[in-house]
Amino acid sequence: MIDASYDCIVIGAGPAGLSASLFLARYLRRTLTFHHNSPRNEYAHGVHGFLGHDGIRPLELLARGRDEVTGYGGLIIEARVDTVEKISAERFRVISGGKTFEARRLLLATGLRDLTPDCPGFREFYGSSVHHCPDCDGYEVKDKRVAVLAHDNNAAGFTANLLTWTRQLTLLTDGREISNDDRAKLTALDIAIRREAIVALEGDEPARQLQRVLFSEGDPLECDALFFNLGTELATNFHETLGCRLDPECGLVWVDDTQQTSVVGVYAAGDVTPQSQLAVVAAAEGAMAAIHIHRSLQDK
Ligand SMILES: Cc1cc2nc3c(=O)[nH]c(=O)nc-3n(C[C@H](O)[C@H](O)[C@H](O)COP(=O)(O)OP(=O)(O)OC[C@H]3O[C@@H](n4cnc5c(N)ncnc54)[C@H](O)[C@@H]3O)c2cc1C
Repeated sequence: MIDASYDCIVIGAGPAGLSASLFLARYLRRTLTFHHNSPRNEYAHGVHGFLGHDGIRPLELLARGRDEVTGYGGLIIEARVDTVEKISAERFRVISGGKTFEARRLLLATGLRDLTPDCPGFREFYGSSVHHCPDCDGYEVKDKRVAVLAHDNNAAGFTANLLTWTRQLTLLTDGREISNDDRAKLTALDIAIRREAIVALEGDEPARQLQRVLFSEGDPLECDALFFNLGTELATNFHETLGCRLDPECGLVWVDDTQQTSVVGVYAAGDVTPQSQLAVVAAAEGAMAAIHIHRSLQDK
């Protein structure tokens, strides 16, 4: 039995999903938005670079967004979506907590999960003096002593990118090897490398200020901040269930100029797509998706 039917179901109420829901509500589209309160940046101390809201607390930005959506009559449910399914060319089924919902369009705005270090101390400083995104928090470490935890192919590139803000950089490989090319590049840039395994992060916990990294051997590294680059993964496998194609280069959900995935009627916006993973970009993609979802429904 169907519990309710909508023009569009939006899965995710981060900047992408909420921005789409806001536009869809203003287009008077019957829209249902799901979230289960785990936006990607819930640990961040502030959202940087979001014009007009620079530095706003992430949860405040989202609470304001939800108020704006519901103010226009949009419906938001705090519940986890368990399964999604395409049941015909113009019909999608979403099941959440045993209830069944259907819609003519689906928007995936479920974001990414960051692969994070598992050493003691990480959570205490994450989002305040431990970061993963130079675009988001690079300015905050201007001229500071920064440790960089990375060990994949992009370790040298990721570290060198931080030279935009500071020359006091040390790459930590946490017991792994990096390529000879990367080592040569970092040496040429005068960037130190520490290869020992990381044992813990320490600092002023009440202030959430990292002060040093402890290693399995050798002296601790005194520092003011740490950036890590350990990769990300899609937060759900709904793209897989629906048969949406992934971008071969970055492994994220491929979309066309209208934010539509390779499955007609299924749209995607925000971090799940290949564009820069920033809140303002996610919001813009959500708005674009809503505009095109509305148009596609008008054409019928
Ligand atoms: C620590 C940190 C700091 C950051 N700082 C900045 C910054 O300063 N500036 C900036 O521009 N960007 C920043 N970012 C990046 C920014 O947070 C993301 O680009 C942005 O949140 C992406 O928005 P989104 O809507 O695509 O995904 P998200 O914000 O991750 O939202 C995903 C949504 O999907 C929902 N969801 C997932 N699975 C399900 C399910 N099964 N059922 C129901 N709902 C589901 C979640 O509940 C959530 O509502 C930061 C990220 C992190 C991790």
